[in-house]
Amino acid sequence: MLSILDIIEDTTVDGPGFRTAIYAAGCPNKCPGCHNPESWDIHKGKNVKTEEIVEKVLADEFANVTFSGGDPMFQPEGFTEVAKAIKAKSQKTIWCYTGYKFEDLIKNPAQAALLSYIDVLVDGRYKQALRDEGLLFRGSSNQRLIDVQASLHKKEVVNYQYDPFI
Ligand code: SF4
Repeated sequence: MLSILDIIEDTTVDGPGFRTAIYAAGCPNKCPGCHNPESWDIHKGKNVKTEEIVEKVLADEFANVTFSGGDPMFQPEGFTEVAKAIKAKSQKTIWCYTGYKFEDLIKNPAQAALLSYIDVLVDGRYKQALRDEGLLFRGSSNQRLIDVQASLHKKEVVNYQYDPFI
């Protein structure tokens, strides 16, 4: 079960191409200037079975997937179930937005388990002083676009190189 604010189909702003975006309820980061403070309270979301989310994602043959919020890394077990099922049943790529930093996520077993199914991570808290509207798929310049699988393999952060199909 996951607490979800919304599932939006065919978004084009949360990663390359058309994507199904799953917006998690709940975020502990409380970044000043957050674009979506209504998402902070996990109790304001709707409880949805992970199987239902997977079904909805797989019903769209072409769209890739983005986990956003709120913060999906605040509910890592449920998102891991969703990501694992998507990867087992499709070739879809998964992007994940989080206020946590990659270096901290890999130290937390539940969050590290979710990372193992993620293709691209957009990490770090939003910082209003570093806001830059020209940045690709992120709000402030401290946030990084990370190639997760390459980073896990090399045991250091590898920046994602833009690819319209990932
Ligand atoms: S991590 Fe994202 S949702 Fe959470 S407070 Fe920061 S900007 Fe808002």
